[in-house]
Amino acid sequence: MNRAVFLDRDGVINHAMIRDDKAFSPRSREEFRLIEGAAAAIRELQAAEFTVLVVTNQPDISRGLLSTADLDWMADRVLSETHVDELLVCPHDDQHACTCRKPQPGMLLEGARKWGIDLAQSFMVGDGWKDMEAGKKAGCTCILIDAPYNQGVGCDYRVKDLKSAADLLIKNKDT
Ligand SMILES: [Mg+2]
Ligand SMILES: [Zn+2]
Repeated sequence: MNRAVFLDRDGVINHAMIRDDKAFSPRSREEFRLIEGAAAAIRELQAAEFTVLVVTNQPDISRGLLSTADLDWMADRVLSETHVDELLVCPHDDQHACTCRKPQPGMLLEGARKWGIDLAQSFMVGDGWKDMEAGKKAGCTCILIDAPYNQGVGCDYRVKDLKSAADLLIKNKDT
């Protein structure tokens, strides 16, 4: 069995857009900026034999606020610049009641099936409660990237950024 690090996208790999102290997804190519150090952290996790899978909610597709072409362009940038193993997207909104939209664990379960992942030995890294909840439901250890907009959110570990999360996981890999 393999171990995975599931990564949320916005606020973890690329900068979230902040409006009224809340985090939003970028809605255009101009708004999409990768976080410095994220690609290197992902490379280190893969070198430590973690499978790295991105699991991202993108309801702006359903809401008509983001085009599929722009979403695909962002996915291509993540794949080509960070070399994550796979990127899974939920394009639905609450009213679709799908099983993939976090806090549901569907994308993690699908990734686990596909990549032979032991979820109990795996991690979810994100910046919101839906990430932590999805990770918990899947049986993973949950790591929250600290931000002003997530101070009340529960997690197993709170870290500064993806680089710090990678350092923590690699340091404790064999324990
Ligand atoms: Mg996020
Ligand atoms: Zn969905």
